[in-house]
Amino acid sequence: MQNNHVFGSIEGGGTKFICAIGTSQNIIAETRIPTTTPDETMSQVVAFFKEQEKNVGKLSAIGFACFGPLNPDINSKQYGYILPTPKPNWSNSNVVGMLKNQFNIPIGFDTDVNGAALGEWRWGKAQGLHTFIYLTVGTGIGGGVVAEGKLLHGLLHPEMGHIPVKHNVEKDFFEGVCPFHKDCFEGLASGVAIEKRWGVRGSTLDENHPAWDLEADYIAQALASYSYMISPQRIILGGGIGSLHHLLSKIQAKTKTLINGYIQSPMILENIESYIVHPGLGNRSGILGGMALAEMALQKND
Ligand code: ZN
Repeated sequence: MQNNHVFGSIEGGGTKFICAIGTSQNIIAETRIPTTTPDETMSQVVAFFKEQEKNVGKLSAIGFACFGPLNPDINSKQYGYILPTPKPNWSNSNVVGMLKNQFNIPIGFDTDVNGAALGEWRWGKAQGLHTFIYLTVGTGIGGGVVAEGKLLHGLLHPEMGHIPVKHNVEKDFFEGVCPFHKDCFEGLASGVAIEKRWGVRGSTLDENHPAWDLEADYIAQALASYSYMISPQRIILGGGIGSLHHLLSKIQAKTKTLINGYIQSPMILENIESYIVHPGLGNRSGILGGMALAEMALQKND
């Protein structure tokens, strides 16, 4: 990849869109745009890139790592659309089309978590690996997967937040917040679930609060399931809650206990601290993932 390319990156989230331009991981300019309606938000995104092009010339490609569910299948009629979502206004919006109308350049499009996985693969804690998971636990829960050297899409993309977990109702009376499944993993362990269960934001709860043992239990159950199913070489755990330092060692210990020696790999038996890790790029995995998506879109186009 030549160094003279300037790329655009978008990390599209439920509350804000972060947009940046840069030469691979070197960000030149960055802005934040509130997530309101697709027309309003996307026209501000376009305006930011057009303004930046006055300084740096034409962008070579744009990478868009977006909240889902979405359609990343380039051969589908619905490619580039946000699929039906509880989020007001965004269902069935053609967000990639809105960019394509304005920029005649390759556009890479994937989930926010696949984007973050790509960022970690390129510059973070997944460098040199062929199979790994990036999981974010924040307002919602989602995971991106690289399997045997490729981002995993399948039918659409994995929905790692919606797997069932054991819900011991005697220990945890909370019914769950997922509008589709109530007490799935996200329904019990997302930031929204923590806030509803305890009546305060997770960030205000003390390290010794019982919320965290429960949270570590649910996360460990999910990580054990992913370990069985995907056999990742590493699991990168990010997001506002997933990145909490005091949770990490609890999650590592509980995951190892749950697996109980069944996966005979030294990564789990001896090196659980390097098996479950925080992102190498901190909270920049997403926006840098957008850069990596842009690079990839350009390479595919060449
Ligand atoms: Zn669910």
